[in-house]
Amino acid sequence: MNMKSLYVTQPDLPPLEEFLPFLEKIWESKRLTNSGTFHKEFETALCNYLGVEHISVFVNGTLALLTALQALHISGEVITTPYSFVATAHSLLWNAINPVFIDIDRDTLNLDPARIEAAITPETTAIMPVHCYGNPCDVSEIQRIADTYGLKVLYDAAHAFGVEDAGGSILRHGDLSILSFHATKVFNTFEGGAIVSPDAETKKRIDYLKNFGFADETTVVALGINGKMNEIQSAFGLLQLKHIDNALALRKQIDSAYRKALSGLAGITLLPPNSASKGNNGYFPILVETGFPLSRDNLYLELKRKNIFARRYFYPLISEFPMYQGLPSAQSTNLPVAHDIAKKILCLPIYPALSNEDQDYIISTIKSIA
Ligand SMILES: *Cc1c(COP(=O)(O)O)cnc(C)c1O
Repeated sequence: MNMKSLYVTQPDLPPLEEFLPFLEKIWESKRLTNSGTFHKEFETALCNYLGVEHISVFVNGTLALLTALQALHISGEVITTPYSFVATAHSLLWNAINPVFIDIDRDTLNLDPARIEAAITPETTAIMPVHCYGNPCDVSEIQRIADTYGLKVLYDAAHAFGVEDAGGSILRHGDLSILSFHATKVFNTFEGGAIVSPDAETKKRIDYLKNFGFADETTVVALGINGKMNEIQSAFGLLQLKHIDNALALRKQIDSAYRKALSGLAGITLLPPNSASKGNNGYFPILVETGFPLSRDNLYLELKRKNIFARRYFYPLISEFPMYQGLPSAQSTNLPVAHDIAKKILCLPIYPALSNEDQDYIISTIKSIA
């Protein structure tokens, strides 16, 4: 029995002494927030690292989502996935937009583009897909449908930091993409988020929106909010960028070791490898099928007893929460694949600091049950 608690993720932290010089600069300058030096440097560094042109950083991913919906003037109904973190749909309700859930694809766990057209009504204004676990959505098919019906596309790319397809960053698709830098994500600034814009005008409007709508000292051009990232978060993000490639390489090794050890295990299904040219291995989901000796929930509890804190991401589905369950699109008959996956899914611990011994312990524990 391993006495250490192995959580599904452990936030990546750089050596503390590397952060102290950043703090000293902030103390010296007395500039704490409102687009300071580190904020600007971080936005530039992120653009360079991710290979995109325009980024606005935010205090968290949820405020980035709320603001992106405002920036695109989205209203009415938005087609989205029930298989995500609850903030995806909450950002719609907070904007008085009705979510319309459609079922997911069994291999990618992303919303199934083949089901979008049937869900479009005269009220539909946008599609909000999620690159679930960093798996790229079928971006060309989604864009084709959006163009045909005149809809906006807003990607919740909270899981997709650093993910690339053959043409470059996955974040360049759609009208806007949002990122989360929450402590549990692949790249973290404690809390944080960002919106990726296609052009400078859109970024400018988003920057107004995240600062109450101020265009200058006395001019308020929009109904903005306070979504600003402060200097400590921004400085931390700058430092994290120096370590991210190493973190991604370690995640990749852990992913490969799990795949090798668990493939072919009776009753456990691995998802097909990410179709991205460059993935980020942010999650390691497995499906616990009926052929496994324990149900998914009992495996989850058994692992917990052995100090392995796997997580049932995403269960329950968003469509099962009280504020959504009454919607016609939330009925389980409309979402059979999502319900089936939510019953079977279990995400195993994956993070750069997960040692070989600890991973072996997780693998041997699962194998001994099988
Ligand atoms: C984490 C997450 C969010 C919210 O991001 P925060 O930074 O925690 O506000 C939104 N959508 C998805 C899919 C997420 O995983």
